[in-house]
Amino acid sequence: MTIDIIIAYVKRYEFGHEKDFVPPVTGIHIAAITPKEHTVRVFHQQVDRIDFDSSADLIAISFFSGFAPSAFDLAREFRKRGKTVVAGGPHVTFNIDESLGHFDAIVTGEAETAWIDLLRDQALGQLKRIYTGRPCDMKNLPTPRYDLLSDKFFIRKVIQATRGCPFTCSFCTVPTLNPGFRLRPVQDVVRDAAYDAFPHWWQRKVVWFWDDNLTIDRKYIHELLTALKPLKKWWLTQASLDIAKDDKLLDMMRDSGCIGVFLGIESFDKESLADAHKRQNKIEHYKTAVAAIHKRGIAVMAGFIAGFDHDTPESIEEMADRIMDVGIDVPFLSVMTPFRGTPIYHELLKTDRMLEKGWQFYNGYNVAFKPKRMSPGQLLQSHRNLWKKAFSVTHSLRRILRGLLTLRPGAMCLSLFMNSFYMYKQVRKNYPVDMNKHPVAHWEEYVPVPKNVSHPKPMTATA
Ligand code: SF4
Repeated sequence: MTIDIIIAYVKRYEFGHEKDFVPPVTGIHIAAITPKEHTVRVFHQQVDRIDFDSSADLIAISFFSGFAPSAFDLAREFRKRGKTVVAGGPHVTFNIDESLGHFDAIVTGEAETAWIDLLRDQALGQLKRIYTGRPCDMKNLPTPRYDLLSDKFFIRKVIQATRGCPFTCSFCTVPTLNPGFRLRPVQDVVRDAAYDAFPHWWQRKVVWFWDDNLTIDRKYIHELLTALKPLKKWWLTQASLDIAKDDKLLDMMRDSGCIGVFLGIESFDKESLADAHKRQNKIEHYKTAVAAIHKRGIAVMAGFIAGFDHDTPESIEEMADRIMDVGIDVPFLSVMTPFRGTPIYHELLKTDRMLEKGWQFYNGYNVAFKPKRMSPGQLLQSHRNLWKKAFSVTHSLRRILRGLLTLRPGAMCLSLFMNSFYMYKQVRKNYPVDMNKHPVAHWEEYVPVPKNVSHPKPMTATA
């Protein structure tokens, strides 16, 4: 068979991205686990033109909730042309009934254990409606099909070494979507990190780990970093704040070429962190934690969320200065998004605080619920004010200049590139899209109605 795998996308900035930085690993991973007898193409709607005249026997679409309207549009167009269209990913997993209305078949959960069955059934003309993926054991996974990536992505070597996260933050789908914490064999990860068939030196040099919490198993990360060191790569990942207290780990990260860690700091409010079940974050330690990471020359990227119940417009806008004060090199600023499958979604649904907004409002930059201490409009406005201030020329240049003094060369390049990237957006007013101002008539039919839908309950225990 010939198969087109499409990673759906809906524009998140007014004029789109000036540069497309890094692809998700999903599409090229699914392509890699597809048996060799099939021919696969991978399209990222964010950068690639979709081939509606494709001669593929099967169209497979993956997406998260914010991109669902586009995925449904793609499915409709391809089905109109007589194609069989299947889908998987977080949105499908948590919105089974709705998804069945748009696709010929769906894969819930992790794809590895279901994809081969789906392909076999399709080849035999016996496609079922639902394929339930089980948590994959992570052994013998192939190298992602980097050769199928568009040349429009700046960084291309994306890898996943672990899956899952032992924490259970209230807004996160990972504990339910990828239960447990599973590890790939170190030699498999190192094989992928050593892949070098890219045209540009930085694409060979930089390894982007798409893990949710790479460092949590200390024995494993020690082994991995020891094996990674001889490759002399620059690598980045997500981790939790506890790494800052582990000098040995930080030294190993530096020695193996780490240039950046993404920390989910989320808030400067103690009660918000407690609401989020983010007990591992201690506000009084933020500054020393960032300093400990900087001491190794590693850049600190950090995520912050606007819209916790204790937030006010003032506290959200103040975050711009506090982010600067604790020394963050690259902030990522989002609006609280109550994805299905999360504790916060169930809480908001129970207390009648969900807004009937289309899925395009679930892109991390819009408001789909009633905030407690402000209106939805005030939350959106205060987030935009925060975003504009944090990426103003003054704040961005201060972060870049500070990086010249504190960061190693790769980390400095990262800070320079990413701060310039967001500063340029800010300067040319390429703000996060306000979906209220861009209504798409037929997307209204995709408004999620929180009744008569089946979606798994979130995990609640904190490991
Ligand atoms: S630390 Fe929290 S937000 Fe991050 S992956 Fe784990 S559960 Fe999700």
